[in-house]
Amino acid sequence: MDCLFCKISKKEISSDIVCENDNFLAFKDINPKADFHTLIIPKKHIESIKELQSEDKELIGEMFLFIKEIARDKNLKGYKIAINVGKEGGQFVEHLHAHLLAGEIKEVV
Ligand code: 5GP
Ligand code: ZN
Repeated sequence: MDCLFCKISKKEISSDIVCENDNFLAFKDINPKADFHTLIIPKKHIESIKELQSEDKELIGEMFLFIKEIARDKNLKGYKIAINVGKEGGQFVEHLHAHLLAGEIKEVV
């Protein structure tokens, strides 16, 4: 499957990894829009929130716990979590991802 974030998750394309476990990968955004801008993806290919199935319920819950752990490890006092959905929603990479942003935010993601 020709998916950029699947390739990043399989390490076929390199990225600046922030955190990883069996189900998720967090890596720095290549074009950061904030002082701290990390992307969090499930390793499972899900195109977007639109394609979420009820069987993904636990995975999505885990994703937010994973994000919380990163924010805690990085001592982020406050932050934004943004998920773009569909092209019209600003999603350009068709593999579900959350933007974790902190510090000065220069641009809307
Ligand atoms: P979207 O607009 O789809 O919500 O966000 C995609 C994000 O992926 C953008 O902020 C963009 O800068 C980032 N991005 C695109 N290609 C790459 C890449 O090859 N490596 C990394 N680390 N980030 C990427
Ligand atoms: Zn993918």
